[in-house]
Amino acid sequence: MIGLISATAAGAAARDRLAAVWPDRTRVYDGPVADAVRRAFAECEQLVCFLATGAVVRLVAPLLADKTADPGVVCVDEAGRYAVALTGGHGGGANGLAREVGAVLGAEPVVTTATDAVGIAGLDTLGLPVEGAVAAVSRALLDGEPVALRAEVAWPLPPLPVAAEGAYTVRVTDRLAEPAAHEVVLRPPTLVVGVGASKGAPEAEVLGVIESALRDAGLSARSVAELATVDAKRDEPGIVGAAARLGVPLVTYPAEELAAVGVPNPSDAPLAAVGTPSVAEAAALVRGGELLVPKRKSAASPATATCAVVRRPGRGRLAVVGLGPGARDLLTPRARAELERASVLVGLDQYVDQIRDLLRPGTRIVESGLGAEEERARTAVEEARRGQAVALIGSGDAGVYAMASPALAEASDDIDVVGVPGVTAALAAGAILGAPLGHDHVSISLSDLHTPWEVIERRVRAAAEADLVVTFYNPRSRGRDWQLPKALSVLAGHRDPATPVGVVRNASRPDESSRLTTLGGLDPATVDMMTVVTVGNTATRQIAGRMVTPRGYRWQTSQEEAR
Ligand code: SAH
Repeated sequence: MIGLISATAAGAAARDRLAAVWPDRTRVYDGPVADAVRRAFAECEQLVCFLATGAVVRLVAPLLADKTADPGVVCVDEAGRYAVALTGGHGGGANGLAREVGAVLGAEPVVTTATDAVGIAGLDTLGLPVEGAVAAVSRALLDGEPVALRAEVAWPLPPLPVAAEGAYTVRVTDRLAEPAAHEVVLRPPTLVVGVGASKGAPEAEVLGVIESALRDAGLSARSVAELATVDAKRDEPGIVGAAARLGVPLVTYPAEELAAVGVPNPSDAPLAAVGTPSVAEAAALVRGGELLVPKRKSAASPATATCAVVRRPGRGRLAVVGLGPGARDLLTPRARAELERASVLVGLDQYVDQIRDLLRPGTRIVESGLGAEEERARTAVEEARRGQAVALIGSGDAGVYAMASPALAEASDDIDVVGVPGVTAALAAGAILGAPLGHDHVSISLSDLHTPWEVIERRVRAAAEADLVVTFYNPRSRGRDWQLPKALSVLAGHRDPATPVGVVRNASRPDESSRLTTLGGLDPATVDMMTVVTVGNTATRQIAGRMVTPRGYRWQTSQEEAR
């Protein structure tokens, strides 16, 4: 919950705008401000104060206790010009909140945390539990001092400017270890604890067997991703309570599924009770991984709880990211977030150039020239399999005549894959031309590199017969000059020479150009590979210099009816 506090009429007006946009996230604290701040500080995860920074500093100073637990505080000035992340920039999320508040109110976000200002991911913002010398190691990263990364388990971390050797270290491990003097330990969620319990087993006993198993094996409880058990124990209070105490989800599996898992220590008791010879070991192993702690029983006599611990291999992450047609403001915020998150970026050199300034220090860039598509796809997948966070980029939408399909054809289910859609060239061009795609339309690539010309021509013919608006991608290059005229002549067999045709070159790029012509008037020699060509259907018109395809053939009548 975000607590909102204001003192003046202008502050209250801005506060109400925020509350109206985020009704479920915000709560207004009325009354004397000192008291309102105190109450909000105690009750909320974040505060937005429509007050001077000086006032807020004085009010929250006595309340501050611990930057990992304190709420994040953002101040907005009387004129609504700035949203200042005051305290709790990382732990309390104030930096992110300042940006969000800024976006809603049209205020400039002011973020002074060093790691954010220079684009290095804060060690305490990676979404992993962190221990050790966060401030000292962050400063070393910022100052460019060598910081070594010691990853004992593979995990898709965001980029960090790390070196092979260094006086400072970032250690990624699920092992129980005290951080050294100049060390930060990150705890990836690699461990799965399978648990079994008899009816009514006390929570303390379940928790006890888990904690002793982890301790004896030298494993950190902070790396536990989840508890796992059989469906029949879904509501067993001792297990549910232990999961809650560890702060992890409880996942359950059907007994038949567990019965099929090969385990070292099956037994008859669970087979009779719940229908599988193993609960703890099987539930821990069912999604694969390495058994670190075989089944062990709780200390009580008779024992009522069992557990087993498995380390799952770190899953790499492949984000297939569309960059849009060119302009920075047509790059989606989600694409931008994925670019910042990736530690390895794979793409065509010209596309890498398009977003190089957005990459965080330490991002490894694997660029290649035109043509090396299969190789790029393979590289991206291999890096993800090694546990890296990889972004594979493409212009427009990465799934349209681009890298997504070759990459996913290579990928197996041992990596996570996310796709980020982008504005494809046909849409960018359509918006420039007017509304050419107002009714059914297709895209056809005229590149016969991967597709035999007979197939392409058959599709053009089908589009012509079906009266579809057609956007040609890859329309013409130096070595491929007869395909476009041929395709246009097929369309001309079914459409009037006066049919509108839009030609857009470098949509949304600095040297964008576009023109509207006709099927009879288009000179193919003016078209190149930076261009898309959109040919209207029999209903498409040129209206006030724009290309417009009516939404339906009943359009005219419905317009008349509306009158
Ligand atoms: N994935 C891309 C398409 C790649 S195929 C997308 O979704 O847009 C390459 C072809 O796309 C080019 O030959 C050209 O026809 C078209 N294209 C890509 N970007 C363009 C732009 N900004 N302006 C005009 N055409 C573009």
